[in-house]
Amino acid sequence: MEHEDLDFIKKEDEEIYKAISGEEKRQKETINLIPSENYVSRAVRQASGSVLSNKYSEGYPGKRYYSGQEFTDSVERIAIERATKLFGCKYANVQPLSGDPANIATYFALADKGDTILAMDLSHGGHLTHGHSGFALSKIFKFVHYKMKNINTGEIDYDKLLSLAREHKPKIIVAGFSAYTRELDYEKFVTISREVGAYAMADIAHIAGMIAGDALPNPFDAGFDIITTTTHKSLRGPRGGLILIRKSKELAEKIDKAVFPGIQGGPHMNMIAAKAICFKEALQPEFQEYTKQILKNAKAIEEVLKKRNIRMIAGGTSNHMILTDVHSSFGVTGKEAQEILESIGITVNMNVIADDERSAKDPSGIRFGTPAVTTRGLKEKECELIANLMLDALENKNDENKKQKIADEVGELSKQFPIPDSF
Ligand SMILES: *Cc1c(COP(=O)(O)O)cnc(C)c1O
Repeated sequence: MEHEDLDFIKKEDEEIYKAISGEEKRQKETINLIPSENYVSRAVRQASGSVLSNKYSEGYPGKRYYSGQEFTDSVERIAIERATKLFGCKYANVQPLSGDPANIATYFALADKGDTILAMDLSHGGHLTHGHSGFALSKIFKFVHYKMKNINTGEIDYDKLLSLAREHKPKIIVAGFSAYTRELDYEKFVTISREVGAYAMADIAHIAGMIAGDALPNPFDAGFDIITTTTHKSLRGPRGGLILIRKSKELAEKIDKAVFPGIQGGPHMNMIAAKAICFKEALQPEFQEYTKQILKNAKAIEEVLKKRNIRMIAGGTSNHMILTDVHSSFGVTGKEAQEILESIGITVNMNVIADDERSAKDPSGIRFGTPAVTTRGLKEKECELIANLMLDALENKNDENKKQKIADEVGELSKQFPIPDSF
């Protein structure tokens, strides 16, 4: 990553200049295994900082509430066209500010106050927007949860999913996760949704890139009605959300209304331009190579964990995400493990494991994934090395000398693999 041009910030605001420069240095010098993070291209960063930030564009292309929309209309139309091409569907709304608003708008579009939404249990991998008690919409909709049947293989309890669907008659069944490491049986979700008259919705926030790059199956191929996602995880775009509708015009119109004026005001056109650039990048053949390598790199890490007998939830990974039980494997909590790994220059995040007896603030697990390291060009060999270094650090958590040596090795590796400006 070329040094960011921050001249104007430096002149005007020394404090923020220092913070941004510090963050740039931190990113360059550490190895990032947080599965929800990635490095965007310089082009995406330029679009997010562009003059489009100055424009109000409430409404949709051709139907705005302010004048002067010649270029913003073109930006949004291009973004929509690329998004539908990338995911093989008819309609897209590119305005959601992030993943949460994409889900919130979708719930409001498809369900009414008091209706039921059936989604993955949070400790089994579901996201906060799938019905956490602190999620504001848990007061408006009734969330019911399915789980894994077998924590060691990750198999979902589809019989229970079916019986819950028959019992609660949900308006929406959500297939998606933020900490689940296996593939879902999309056909089963669609069959069950059809039987009970629910919309089949996939929240692919973490694996959007993998699906766009053909490294994992696309829920639309199984007949899902609607997909929501973020654009900043494996899809490697700017921070943002996206809603995709397979073919129903009526549904697409409901979604548009639910986003604006439903829950948002003016769209962030700078970010929509950045999304459009990200979609263009993801449509290139190189992106398919990239996503296949994400998976190979994750498998290389999984192999090391298996060899060294580390407990993984669901026994391993099929989608690049890995969830380890560090509490039973190393006698440290997720928070402690996160801190030990940060001290050697590897960033990961703590996470609850299935039916965790510990709390989300200090859970039993560590979650990691490989989109960011793969962007930096690391391959299987280096991922194996990182996995071994992580485990060495956790095993030698009280040996400061050993940890310093490991940190030096991680630092060396970071230097060898600079963050690219384009792909
Ligand atoms: C990350 C994520 C989201 C939310 O995205 P934000 O951009 O953080 O709001 C929603 N659903 C799933 C499954 C996610 O992993």
